[in-house]
Amino acid sequence: MYPVELITCEGVLRGIIYEDGSFEDCEVRAEYVAIPTFFNAHAHLLDSIAKEIARMDLRDAIRYKFEILKSKGDDEIRDCVRVSVEIARRSGTSEILNFTEMGLRGFKLMRDFEVLALTRPGDLEEAEILADLSFGFGMSSVRDHDYRFLEDVREIARKRGKVFAIHAGEVDDGDVEDALALEPDLLIHMNMASVSNLRRAMDMEIPIVSCIRSNAFFGLMNIKNYEILVEYDLWMLGTDNAMVCSPSMIDEMHFASYILGRDEEVFKACLRGFKIFNAKPNLLILNRRYNLHRSRDLIRSVVRRVNVEDFERIFSLDKKLERLIF
Ligand SMILES: [Zn+2]
Repeated sequence: MYPVELITCEGVLRGIIYEDGSFEDCEVRAEYVAIPTFFNAHAHLLDSIAKEIARMDLRDAIRYKFEILKSKGDDEIRDCVRVSVEIARRSGTSEILNFTEMGLRGFKLMRDFEVLALTRPGDLEEAEILADLSFGFGMSSVRDHDYRFLEDVREIARKRGKVFAIHAGEVDDGDVEDALALEPDLLIHMNMASVSNLRRAMDMEIPIVSCIRSNAFFGLMNIKNYEILVEYDLWMLGTDNAMVCSPSMIDEMHFASYILGRDEEVFKACLRGFKIFNAKPNLLILNRRYNLHRSRDLIRSVVRRVNVEDFERIFSLDKKLERLIF
């Protein structure tokens, strides 16, 4: 059993975590800290194979990535994805919403990995097949697709009860209006959206994911928009392209904290995906030997400096505890 201080979305509770993953609320000398595992709300794990990318413009980077992907065999790509998934798991992420490009080939490449796959069909026939197989669709910007095709894919997702997600507002506001007209279930980025369009998306209650390290890499950080998003109940964080960023939510969380200085909100943004997408977190027990040693503010310490050396054990979470956390 682990006497813990349990960090929830509402604050810190004290008690004991038992071997079956249950929690008793009581006064204890908390030798450990417990937090939920993380939800990575946006990744592109297939491009783990292109991780030596030089600093370049976003458009060139996307071209570069697909050139590499086309030139490599399935086994080599899968080998790189496997390592990325392992990095994510070892750094406390238990769920990954992955933009799985390249149609059916992409789906098959990712099939053996336990991720929530938002696939990208190349035509309507493929969209019908992928709707059965995957969690939903993850499309590029409206600039990169035929708009009629996007409308049809959106409709297929709606009919089948699948998620329709799309990138928007990453480089400028020019693709945002058309993306909003599709009434997506999830928007990726919006860092460069106009404030009025960002507010519109929030009024429409569309969940939004920020990938701040990736934005920094491509010279697209916009603190003004992040500061609006930080207050949004449907704001999440993701690690974006594995060719640019490690698929570690811990790394993303640290970076977001240093950019925004809003540790509680950043922490929630690393967890919220479980609730939005009806998934179940696990529980991470942290020791106090390293980064949490003599910490007087656990949330600040966790969000800014916790790392794998602090991980003691991962439990699967019982229902009652899950309710306490959210
Ligand atoms: Zn993306």
